[in-house]
Amino acid sequence: MNYYVLSLFPDMIESCMKTSITGRAMEQGYITLNSINIRDYSRRKHNQVDDYPYGGGAGMVMQAEPICLALDAVNEMTKSRARVVYMTPQGKTFDQNIAKELANEEDLILLCGHYEGIDERVIESRVTDCISIGDYVLTGGELPALVVMDAVSRMVPGVLSNKESGTDESFEGGLLEYPQYTRPEEYDGMKVPEILLSGHHANIEKWRHEQALLRTAKWRPDLLENADLTEEEKKFLAEFLEKNTCY
Ligand code: SAM
Repeated sequence: MNYYVLSLFPDMIESCMKTSITGRAMEQGYITLNSINIRDYSRRKHNQVDDYPYGGGAGMVMQAEPICLALDAVNEMTKSRARVVYMTPQGKTFDQNIAKELANEEDLILLCGHYEGIDERVIESRVTDCISIGDYVLTGGELPALVVMDAVSRMVPGVLSNKESGTDESFEGGLLEYPQYTRPEEYDGMKVPEILLSGHHANIEKWRHEQALLRTAKWRPDLLENADLTEEEKKFLAEFLEKNTCY
């Protein structure tokens, strides 16, 4: 996976990506990062990249020209026509399915806006996908791009070691993950559920699956509407919810 990130703050992108698992993945060559400073493509005095919005109103808008010139330069670097993802609160909300889909790409171009956003003509002519990381407005697209790259990178084969495997995680199979515990067996009067100490793998597996169902019902009932539950799972949940009004 080769990322190309167009931003006014490439240092922010690089320092975060160099950290922890994504940093290791870069060192090992599973992912590469090219951070491009849009300002380098400005032909104006002091490399200015923004201007007042037509029609008036608050704030500044990033101009089309430097972004398009930067995109042209990136297109030269990529083997094929890569997807151009503009990070915007107006886009489709990012989730695990979108992360999976993007992980199939070889090259991915991420465009970070700033100020009031970018000139609409860039979106019309160059952008293939608009992605939001949630219904709130941030100052820039750098954190959203980092969120996308982190989630996508975990799905690139080789990035996670066996120890960090992502197969059992939340949203896999439409459910949240079961609760996790580590040593000590007792902390502050709270004990690890006995079943996890039993060594009986089949029972542990069953308990974890039930806990995943219950946790999803409690914290994210909306996920259950789209989860492909078996009759047995539906019965288990219905019986539990009937017996426990508060859990
Ligand atoms: N005026 C824009 C609007 O109301 O839709 C918001 C612009 S925001 C202050 C500046 C930049 O931050 C955007 O161009 C975008 O790149 C990024 N951004 C802010 N919130 C975001 C979000 N929730 N998801 C993705 N990108 C976001």
